[in-house]
Amino acid sequence: MKAAIFDYVRPKNLTAGLEALSDQSAGIVKVMGGSQSLGPMLNLRLARPNKVVDVSGFPEMQQVVEDGNWLVVGASITHSQIEDGIFPQLRGSLLSEVAPQIAYRAIRNRGTIGGSLAHADPAADWVLVAFALGAEVELQSSRGKRRLSMPEFMLGAYTTALAEDELISAVRLPRLGQRAVWGYHKLCRKTGEFAEASCCAVFDPDRGLARIVLGALDGPPSLLGELSVDVAKRGVEALGEEALVNAATSVTPGKDPVDRQLCITALRRCLHSIFKESKA
Ligand SMILES: Cc1cc2nc3c(=O)[nH]c(=O)nc-3n(C[C@H](O)[C@H](O)[C@H](O)COP(=O)(O)OP(=O)(O)OC[C@H]3O[C@@H](n4cnc5c(N)ncnc54)[C@H](O)[C@@H]3O)c2cc1C
Repeated sequence: MKAAIFDYVRPKNLTAGLEALSDQSAGIVKVMGGSQSLGPMLNLRLARPNKVVDVSGFPEMQQVVEDGNWLVVGASITHSQIEDGIFPQLRGSLLSEVAPQIAYRAIRNRGTIGGSLAHADPAADWVLVAFALGAEVELQSSRGKRRLSMPEFMLGAYTTALAEDELISAVRLPRLGQRAVWGYHKLCRKTGEFAEASCCAVFDPDRGLARIVLGALDGPPSLLGELSVDVAKRGVEALGEEALVNAATSVTPGKDPVDRQLCITALRRCLHSIFKESKA
């Protein structure tokens, strides 16, 4: 199928973009990032906007800036720019480890971190990473700027707190300390697919961060709170099979046993990659 007719604008900067978004007189207005999810939705006519505002060319949204204890990552930065280490602040980070696992190179060349968060697919890699890091999403409209935590931002599968005239300008990530460790494990049948089960864990004693999060669930990712605290305290001693099964089961009520087993396996492999360096 082909997309229905729509107007397309590509403003040069953020100010002009916010202005274009604020004019809702044209009918339904949609933001376009890398168009890797929006493009198929337009072609299938699942999205039928009257106007599309392409935000991929705004210089303000293509930079990584340090702001105290935070790294502010521009929303239009692509998966492959992170994979390729274009931004020194992200080299060797959790993000640089995850980026090559997203889709295929052609999609990574255009898909953006902001677009992925806005799309809010429960199986998306950046969604899980942002939850695990305790990231904040920076939203802007011509009315002003606001910041939301990921649980405040992602309200459900494909559902966010974005207003019609708002865009994501950046994602704010905590700057991790020297002693921080992390793991990421994504289960999918073929390289380049969305996760069937996924887990991300971050422990940073310097920032008091201990978060184990399961992704690819029916809605937003789930924090395994008790297990996170226990693993931060006791390390490998807390990785007994019963503890892992109980933790994963607690956030997957009603899940098919095979799907739950995938969650348990993603959890186990993620934590073992940090604490045991073996892929169980
Ligand atoms: C075959 C295939 C495989 C894929 N595999 C994976 C995978 O394994 N893991 C994974 O995580 N993703 C995967 N993706 C999705 C891919 O990562 C997309 O790039 C991403 O979901 C959307 O990013 P985008 O920049 O292309 O956004 P777009 O497609 O342009 O937009 C997606 C949605 O977000 C909105 N939007 C975009 N940018 C902004 C913004 N700055 N502010 C507010 N709203 C915005 C749009 O209005 C639209 O609703 C896959 C996609 C395809 C087609």
